[in-house]
Amino acid sequence: MDLRFYNSMGRELQDFVSVRAGKVGMYGCGPTVYNYAHIGNLRTYIFEDILRRVLEFAGYEVTHVMNVTDVGHLTDDADDGEDKMEKSARESGRSVWDIAEMFTGAFFHDTERLNILRPSVVCRATDHIAEMIGLVSRLEERGFTYEAGGNIYFSIDKFPAYGRLALLDSQRLVAGARVEVDAGKRNPHDFVLWFTRSKFENQTMVWDSPWGRGYPGWHLECSAMSMRYLGEQFDIHCGGIDHIPVHHTNEIAQSEAATGKCPWVKYWLHGEFLIMDRGKMSKSRGGFLTLDRLVEEGFSPLDFRYFCLGGHYRSQLKFSFDGLASAASARANLMERISRLDRGSSVSAGDSSCADSSFGEAAAGLLRDFEADIGDDLNMPKALADLWALVKHQDIPDGEKLAAMQRMDRVLGLNLLEARGVEALDSEIEALIQERLGARKAKNFARADEIRDILKGRGILLEDSPDGTRWKRV
Ligand code: AMP
Ligand code: ZN
Repeated sequence: MDLRFYNSMGRELQDFVSVRAGKVGMYGCGPTVYNYAHIGNLRTYIFEDILRRVLEFAGYEVTHVMNVTDVGHLTDDADDGEDKMEKSARESGRSVWDIAEMFTGAFFHDTERLNILRPSVVCRATDHIAEMIGLVSRLEERGFTYEAGGNIYFSIDKFPAYGRLALLDSQRLVAGARVEVDAGKRNPHDFVLWFTRSKFENQTMVWDSPWGRGYPGWHLECSAMSMRYLGEQFDIHCGGIDHIPVHHTNEIAQSEAATGKCPWVKYWLHGEFLIMDRGKMSKSRGGFLTLDRLVEEGFSPLDFRYFCLGGHYRSQLKFSFDGLASAASARANLMERISRLDRGSSVSAGDSSCADSSFGEAAAGLLRDFEADIGDDLNMPKALADLWALVKHQDIPDGEKLAAMQRMDRVLGLNLLEARGVEALDSEIEALIQERLGARKAKNFARADEIRDILKGRGILLEDSPDGTRWKRV
């Protein structure tokens, strides 16, 4: 299956070719756990989940790594302000560790409800301080750092390729167009690798280091942890679009400077923002919507997932409760249509290519369209249209529709077959198993095999043993 993605590095659509055959290493910047995730953050994680599912659909073995930022992320991305975790702890009267635990739990509760697959590796910044110190030491040995006022900085003037991702103009950077408050910086775009001097005296999260007791700069963790779990060069790095100018730009600089290998990451994918009528939704500015709030308003988390799939990840998506209500009613309509499909009809899904012979031409054609659309820079609005075309098709037998839908749902993650009611499905499975036993007793092996295939098509595997037949979902 062909895949092409819009690579922010170079700003163009590129065919996807993995670094190692059949495998993909993918890193997504995870949440800063000082508050609940807002639905804008969740849009970005849905996009990353779709990306991972598409890669797996295409047959890759994906290692998906996500960090949890529980230290070092200041209220301003460029080293100004207070540590977000410390601020949240101070305001709520709880310890930073309690805050981290509580909001990490809340985050994964949200992602589970949204059918976002859990990353293969979830790694906390505070568990990887040694790796971060190791990275700063490497940078120091290679001459990319300097010390000023107690902090260790990365010197962007030592790294001529600085700003490649963000298309920053290095001349302009040197001129220092941006207002910067940190007098210790030689270039205003230099960034802190290790803080020992904190503006806030009672900073609680501090560690010993060769440069004194302190804490890491925010950008450092993503370089240190991604390389720990994915190696010094890997396939895909993603996040929200706001990460391009500072966070990802700095991650690239420190990673490539430390290893001397370029490119550190082959493909950079960025999700556009979810916006409100008033503009960008943001955690730090307050007034944001959480998934719980949508649930309180009577929506299912999957309504929000469906809503997000209706927009392309590279376009801004405007959130409104009216828009969400339209998505919810479209999803209800879809699920209702699916529930009316004939459950008893024969299904044979097979596992691999869409063009497999168990589908007639119409269903196979729609599966091919679906495959082309998801492979074309994750065009989920078109993929949803393919799903609808399948459901509404007059000439495709119900069994084939169900089997094709089951395949599509591996990417969509909308629990489409649950529309048929899990309990109803279970008793139906039991009935088919009984019928198969009867067929075998009557030596009607053709029917017995047919029933096994029908169940296989629904993701049910039968295991015969002297004690009877057991089944499991796969
Ligand atoms: P944070 O927890 O603030 O580090 O953000 C987590 C992720 O959400 C990052 O990838 C951000 O780029 C992304 N993000 C932040 N605000 C929005 C938004 N309004 N819409 C979509 N993604 C966002
Ligand atoms: Zn990051």
